[in-house]
Amino acid sequence: MRRIFAVLCACAVTVQAADPARPLRGYSNAQSATEREWEQKLRAIPTTENVKEYMRRLSARPHHVGSPYDKDNADWLVSKLKGWGLDAKIETFDVLFPTPKERVVELVEPTQFKARLDEPVISIDPTTDQKSEQLPTYHAYAHDGEVTAPLVYVNYGIPADYEQLERMGVSVQGKVVIARYGASWRGIKPKVAAEHGATACLVYSDPKDDGYFRDDIYPNGPARPPDGAQRGSVMDMPVYPGDPLTPGVGATADAKRLPLDQAVTITKIPVLPISYADATPLLKALGGQVVPEAWRGALPFTYHVGPGPAKVHMKLMSNWDRKPLYDVIVRIPGAMYPDEWIIRGNHHDAWVNGADDPVSGASPEMEELRAFSELMKQGWKPKRTIIYAFWDGEEPGLLGSTEWVETHAEELQRHAAVYINTDANGRGYLNIQGSHTLENFVNEVAKDIEDPETRLTVWKRLRLRALANPASNNRAETRTRADLRIGALGSGSDYTAFLDHVGIASLNMGFGGEGTGGGQYHSIYDDFYYYSHFVDPTFMYGRALAQTVGTAVMRLSDAEVLPLQFTDFSETVRTYLAELKKLATDQRTEIEERNRNIEDGVYQATNDPERPLLPPSKQPVPPFLNFAPLENAVDLLSRAAEKYESSLTRVGEHASPAVNAKLIESERRLLNDSGLPNRPWFKHTLYAPGFYTGYGVKTIPGAREAIEQKRWAEFDTQLMRAAKALENEADLIESAANQLTAGAPK
Ligand SMILES: [Zn+2]
Repeated sequence: MRRIFAVLCACAVTVQAADPARPLRGYSNAQSATEREWEQKLRAIPTTENVKEYMRRLSARPHHVGSPYDKDNADWLVSKLKGWGLDAKIETFDVLFPTPKERVVELVEPTQFKARLDEPVISIDPTTDQKSEQLPTYHAYAHDGEVTAPLVYVNYGIPADYEQLERMGVSVQGKVVIARYGASWRGIKPKVAAEHGATACLVYSDPKDDGYFRDDIYPNGPARPPDGAQRGSVMDMPVYPGDPLTPGVGATADAKRLPLDQAVTITKIPVLPISYADATPLLKALGGQVVPEAWRGALPFTYHVGPGPAKVHMKLMSNWDRKPLYDVIVRIPGAMYPDEWIIRGNHHDAWVNGADDPVSGASPEMEELRAFSELMKQGWKPKRTIIYAFWDGEEPGLLGSTEWVETHAEELQRHAAVYINTDANGRGYLNIQGSHTLENFVNEVAKDIEDPETRLTVWKRLRLRALANPASNNRAETRTRADLRIGALGSGSDYTAFLDHVGIASLNMGFGGEGTGGGQYHSIYDDFYYYSHFVDPTFMYGRALAQTVGTAVMRLSDAEVLPLQFTDFSETVRTYLAELKKLATDQRTEIEERNRNIEDGVYQATNDPERPLLPPSKQPVPPFLNFAPLENAVDLLSRAAEKYESSLTRVGEHASPAVNAKLIESERRLLNDSGLPNRPWFKHTLYAPGFYTGYGVKTIPGAREAIEQKRWAEFDTQLMRAAKALENEADLIESAANQLTAGAPK
């Protein structure tokens, strides 16, 4: 059945010709027609069968950093790619990668219970029994330690939860805290716990977030089973990702390394992930106040905050060894502009077998390369150089991509035009985040890709979903705006160093939104059996990803003028400015209001003595802030963007190479060399992962976090830096516009 279905789809792809009247941005009409023909051929090449077979091979055994199968996969990738006639090689780095040698979590009072800390074999799922090769459940880069202390439940363990605890009169000083997964990236939980004086941290998967509350549990359904736990990194990546011992430089064999005790991205306290089977006796033994409603999970008992009487003994000891990384790098030299690079990557390492994360993205990436190699045999030559990467060490801390970017920073700054990233891929809708100079470009690509389930273009399906969503407050905008908005990039995959450290315009893409909700994320159950039963059983979305990203890479590498666009970009920055102003006003109003309520005795009057809450403490009223420098800069940017747009429409493809050099530089201009406060590695003035969200993005992060974290003294400097970057950007765009006009035939 599947085979027949696949053939039908292949027909549909060729029948569904894109609108030939619509010339591609950065191409002449003639070039545009030729390019469209090549792109059609490209999209006809990837097959679901290949995507599936690559997945079967790459996820056959556990393949984390330092494991035999990690190296085996890298070697296999190279030989496969060479077999297609491609120039592929391995680039090696040498990084700190701790693995646990002792893990203990036990309840010692009021009753005794020893946590199992083990994911059981499921007999129907053939790779779950590869015990000797599996990493145990743990958090990489967690501090060693041994603690016995009363337990406190801290909900998601984000800063707002500690404010609530304070009002409940509960301190975590000297305690072990237990947080549930969700609401922030996991590394934030031990970080905030340590800031509040906790001595150890447990993070468990509540069934409300990815277990039986969501769906049938594995292997009957995709949701997390009782003993399933989520491995993962807790490295303080919002400070800097990559090898903790070599911040800012590549972790090559002879690199200068920090001593271990100076590596600030290692957690301050021990932390371990546990399953809800292991968490249940601990949570059940908690006394103290009943938790607020929003803190309740889906376990069948009343949740209490503690502290105690539950007392926990926890011990964690790791091997702090260095391990090799094997990045697989493929280079296809450009025929006309070899010094302009289009880069595309997906990681190949996993926590365990990793069929979903990352192989569901890496397998389509292979199909893209196979398609390019076939087209080159038919005479296609990319104008620009194309570099493909299969990164190692993404899971522990974006190691392979960060070390590669740091090693090659100088040449990347000169040559790299765009980086496109993918990671886990599933069924449903195309999710896109990225640099807003690429928003228009990626919208155009999405209009040429067929959605396998609906046969609509993936763009149209996305747009219709936006209209269907009753929660959406911008339906009117969706109906009228030419391009669908793309999200800004925070962190959580290998684009981080490209965008935030060296300023390369970046995109992250993947299908998802239907099906599993990621219930086996970072467990031994994320494997071929799980993926082929519950995530994308036909592999049609794997093929769709290869078609999408392959088209994007090809179009970027062949364009006469790089298809960046600045009007969407400047309009988006304007919305960020409006958000910032609103944030400042709302915060001021809220603090004033709360202070007044405190004076008026509101909290005493509404206090329930059975469930007492302390009034919050009065806070200084925030000062009025001056946004004028940024407002002026955004205006300059908008005018320059309009000018570029009208120049491009008038002169089209008649560009001088100097225009592309400026376009390549445009994302670099958004960096500030000093970086963000307390984290100079992050240099982008518009996008950064939040210091207290981890993966979640903060736009105009310097100024935004100065407001959020109430560090008023920093605000003016940070706002000025963003304004200065945008002014420089406006200058560059304006000169690119002038050059376009000057280069045009009279
Ligand atoms: Zn991943």
